[in-house]
Order: sequence, then structure tokens, then C-alpha cells
Amino acid sequence: MPSDPVGGDSLAQARDPGDGAPSSPASGLLAELAPRLDRCAVLLDIDGTLLDMAATPREVFVPPGLAETLRGLLHQAAGALALVSGRSLNDIDLIFAPDVFPAVGGHGAEMRLAGAAETVAVTAPPLDRELKRRLAAIARLSPGILLEDKGYSLALHYRLAPHAEAEIFRQVDAVRAELPNLPVEILPGKFVCEIKPSGFNKATGVMQLMQQQPFKGRRPFFIGDDVTDESVFAIMPDFGGLAFSVGRQAMGVAHQFATPEEVRRWLAGLLAAAGAGTNAAHSG
Ligand SMILES: [Mg+2]
Repeated sequence: MPSDPVGGDSLAQARDPGDGAPSSPASGLLAELAPRLDRCAVLLDIDGTLLDMAATPREVFVPPGLAETLRGLLHQAAGALALVSGRSLNDIDLIFAPDVFPAVGGHGAEMRLAGAAETVAVTAPPLDRELKRRLAAIARLSPGILLEDKGYSLALHYRLAPHAEAEIFRQVDAVRAELPNLPVEILPGKFVCEIKPSGFNKATGVMQLMQQQPFKGRRPFFIGDDVTDESVFAIMPDFGGLAFSVGRQAMGVAHQFATPEEVRRWLAGLLAAAGAGTNAAHSG
């Protein structure tokens, strides 16, 4: 019997929704990608895609089984798996510790090609200090606003103070108007207003990643849930790749997952199917 590292249930659920419905586009894509994982690049956003959103960014957690799935996919894709996040690489590593995955961090500001490799700063200058100081003051609007200094960017999280949204964006615009010579852009996200230098984003990060081994020449697929992920959706066709969204409609996606839980189940199914194929090839 072939070994089944993620349990038979995951595969069964990924193949069949379980309610008698016909197999979904997701299961068709799973069957298409699984035998070719060693020629694919697996690109995954973290928050809202692999992990459920939490009240604050610090409170997210990696559910049981996910790290094993990611390790397995990294192996099956011969190293061509990367997390693609707005979080810094340091932050990503804290979340997945003790695992260290290849990643594009800081919305494309930094990149690491392999777990053991050095961080490669791609293009990004750190955010201007005076700008940071003025933006940080906006957090005083409400105790529910959480300020996060990511180095390359600054985020104002207001999940606990949703009423402050309009005023936050108004004040951020005012600060930008005071400092017109600093080219920055605003990234609106899920209850977050993030400010970063212009000139790079997740798409530029992924384009640089795709020029490097072991990613180069492979067919990528990317799963993401937020506005900032749309830049990556848009470049997938350039690489013959596929885009998947989570919880929202987006242009040009091959499939829309409902929740991170569904993404995790699909990835576990993908790994199981790829592993089964490998075992069959070895035994036949
Ligand atoms: Mg996300």
C-alpha cells in the first residue's frame, strides 16, 4: 500500500464535495496539476488564503496538518513552492516556525529562494522615517487601531475599530499631501490600510522569483484572497500559469475557493494525489 501522509479523507473531500454534487472545477484542476507538480511552481498567499483571518495579525495560527502539507508540496515540487505575503520574511518565519519556507515577503520587498538561503532584498528602500512617524500618529484615533511597522511598509489595522476606516484613509491622504516628494502607495486590505514605497508589489516580487531556479521555466499557480493579490493574478498568463482566488471574485481566475479551510483541503488533496502518482510510477 502506498503511504498516505495526509490521510485518505483529505483526498476524498477534495475530489468530491460529499453532497452528491458533480465534481467541481477545483477537483478537475487538482487532477490536472497533481501529476505535473514537479514542473509547477506553487505560490501561496498566507493571510486569508492558507490561514483564517484573526482579530489582529499576531493572533493567526497554523492549523494542524497545514505545515505537513506545505512540506510535502515543497518536496513534490522539487523546491518550487513559495509563500507570497505582505508580511516580512521574519514574521512569516515566526508564524511557521520551526519550518522555514521559500518566500516573497513585504509585498515583493524581499525574497528567499530556499528555506536555508539568505534573504535577498529585491528592490525596496525602507519607508521614510518622517513619513512613518506621521502615519504612526494616526493610530491615536482609536485604541482599536493597531500599528504594525513592517520595515518596508507601515500598516494600520482597524479590525477592532471599523468605525475609524474613513477617517484613517482621510488622514493618510493628508499626510501624503504634506510629503508630496515621497513616492508611496496605499494598499487597502481587509480592515487594514497599508502604506509602502511605490515601485514594487507582489507581482514584481513573483516576476523576480520566476527568473530564479528552481522556479524558472515552471508553470506557476497562485492562490490569493485580497486586492493586493490581483497584481499576481494578472501576470499568471505570462507564465502559462493559473490564478485562484479565495472568498471573492476576481478577474481571470481559474477557480474561486470559498474559505481558507477549503484551500487547505484542496492542497492536502493535491499532495495526496501527487504522492499517489509518484508511488504508482515507482511501483510500476
Ligand atoms: Mg491575504
